Amino acid sequence: MMKLLLLSILSSICLTKLARSQSPDPFIQSVVDLVSYDSLQSDLQELENFGRKEIFDTALAYTGEWLIQSYQNMGYNDIQTDYFEFSGQQIFNVVVTKPGTEFPDQYLIIDGHYDTQNGPGVNDNGSGVAIILEIARLVQNIPTRYSLRFINFTAEEYGLVGSYHYVQEVVIPQDMNIRLVFNIDEVGGVAGLPNDTIICERDESSPTANNAESWAFTDTLAALTGIYSGLESTISYAYGSDYVPFQNNGEIITGLYEFNNSPYPHTIHDSLANLDMNYVYEIAKLSVAATLYFSYAFDTTTGTTQKSETDKTVEIYPNPFSDFLFVRAPFEFSGFSLVLCDETGNIINYSQNVTSGEYKIPAKSFAPGFYSYKITDRLGYPIKQGKLVKIRY
Ligand SMILES: [Zn+2]
Repeated sequence: MMKLLLLSILSSICLTKLARSQSPDPFIQSVVDLVSYDSLQSDLQELENFGRKEIFDTALAYTGEWLIQSYQNMGYNDIQTDYFEFSGQQIFNVVVTKPGTEFPDQYLIIDGHYDTQNGPGVNDNGSGVAIILEIARLVQNIPTRYSLRFINFTAEEYGLVGSYHYVQEVVIPQDMNIRLVFNIDEVGGVAGLPNDTIICERDESSPTANNAESWAFTDTLAALTGIYSGLESTISYAYGSDYVPFQNNGEIITGLYEFNNSPYPHTIHDSLANLDMNYVYEIAKLSVAATLYFSYAFDTTTGTTQKSETDKTVEIYPNPFSDFLFVRAPFEFSGFSLVLCDETGNIINYSQNVTSGEYKIPAKSFAPGFYSYKITDRLGYPIKQGKLVKIRY
């Protein structure tokens, strides 16, 4: 409880700061600039043309095949159809993997369901599907340190059936290491309304051990909204979509959901004409930025990542130290964690989710001798490690 309270205070400080000072990373911005309104619109038109996609509709399988074809056309070769039986029908999730360069066994899952209820589901959830296709198209040639897994779940509208199946049959048996589940469901907005805000969803449910990290990722998602899209963000709780089975399994989740709650989903009027294409376009920009940010993408032209400049500026000092040890992380985005161990490997100090600025560790009680430290950023990526000497003046 204390930890959560502390984290939320730190996060709000961080966000206030971000709103004033954060500028776009040039590499991320260069990819965001490639988000195509036309490609989003034509994918949404295609999804409308397929019609209703309930489990007894042939359109559901056609849409699944079309998704597979779309990913193949982009150049993906690890595309799985995750078949299972539900109500006597053989249906499938579409699962596409892009291996990470440094942490191939750790996955950033980006998901959104492709089945619909009653109507063509252009908003619910054609919008999420089209955005995921756009992300996949733009990041296909960009190396990422963490693996990406795009999943289009089926039978979400029947009670998260596809995602429950996936967690039970894949995530748990394979003991999959999931860095984050980023769920995009119903982000089309409402035609004719000013759609200028997106809801960033965080985990406020039991189990609670995974909530703090969900809040941190969601704060970052909200901050990225202000930097890479023309939208405002607000934070709310996650519910009723495919991240729930993952959440129940203790995974870290975040998500996007429209702020103006459309009346059209689950009706025959959930059409392209009734959503706001500009809104979808802005959310696609945010989603592309978030994908690059959360997976630590590389800029292949310069060989650097978006973090490289800031990483160098983290300092731990003085060395040797005596009564106090200071850590300074001048970049605005990431809280960092510090682990300090003595010579025998015992953890002497563990400071979690410290925000940027100068952080002071009282060290008077530490025994003189050698210490090792490791600093990781809020997303768990190692920033710096080394040795320090404690002396007594
Ligand atoms: Zn939905």
